[in-house]
Amino acid sequence: DKERLRLPPWLKTTIPTGSKFSELKQQLRKLKLSTVCEEARCPNIGECWSGGKQGTSTATIMLMGDTCTRGCMFCSVKTSRAPPPLDPAEPRNTAHAIDEWGLAYIVLTSVDRDDLPDGGSSHFAETVTEIKKKNSQILVECLVPDFRGNRQSIEKIANCGLDVFAHNIETVERLTPFVRDPRAGYRQTLKVLETAKEINPDLVTKSSIMLGLGETDDQVEQTLTDLRSAGVDCVTLGQYMQPTKKHLKVFEYVSPAKFLQWEHRGKDLGFLYTASGPLVRSSYRAGEFFHY
Ligand code: SF4
Ligand code: SF4
Repeated sequence: DKERLRLPPWLKTTIPTGSKFSELKQQLRKLKLSTVCEEARCPNIGECWSGGKQGTSTATIMLMGDTCTRGCMFCSVKTSRAPPPLDPAEPRNTAHAIDEWGLAYIVLTSVDRDDLPDGGSSHFAETVTEIKKKNSQILVECLVPDFRGNRQSIEKIANCGLDVFAHNIETVERLTPFVRDPRAGYRQTLKVLETAKEINPDLVTKSSIMLGLGETDDQVEQTLTDLRSAGVDCVTLGQYMQPTKKHLKVFEYVSPAKFLQWEHRGKDLGFLYTASGPLVRSSYRAGEFFHY
């Protein structure tokens, strides 16, 4: 495909190999956990899983199956109107596996389950409760769907004992209809983040923006400002990567210097934590935040 942009050098990464890494991988097979880190072939896996010297190892676990009721143009998760039912043993099994794995920080995320009356919020909340019961030291971030803005569902999550409430805005307002599923919305996302904070002001809230989809600087600036106005504490910015040929094309590979500018801008706007870089993902070395 001639129209495809060439991958710039800063996005060429190697898959980690070290012995610590293969040990974790083997462990994971036994525990039967499904991680986004592996499934999305995330380039940060070596850094996140090992957690460097600070002991801030992080991983992202996918709950509620591998089939989503929505279909966003940037996402390669498979779609169905009626995904299989939830596994009632998942909260307990996940908690057990995470405890065995010995991570410092865990990100729980899920597909969207618009087929369930509560969008899966009780299942999510139960998983957090089970994890904290086993190990109260582990920090838990929930990267949740919008639950169609349903206050009860948001409340269930906000009060379940988690440490970080994350919900991604993904892109600027103008591009939202072309990037996200029609049931998702820019204003709805802001409202979800605002509501979580209002229900539980002790929560750290967080959101993520993908760059390289054709957004202008002014639009990114506006999105950051809107997130701050919704009380969001942490923001991450990363390069959008096209998962398959059927998905949205990359409009532009944003330079590392530009990402650095956004990192500084985030600090100026008053975010507690801004991570911005070509390979940054919503959960990139998330555990480090608590070491600041
Ligand atoms: Fe992917 Fe989430 Fe969109 Fe579902 S809602 S298609 S999992 S980004
Ligand atoms: Fe896993 Fe997220 Fe780290 Fe990637 S950035 S390795 S998905 S925790």
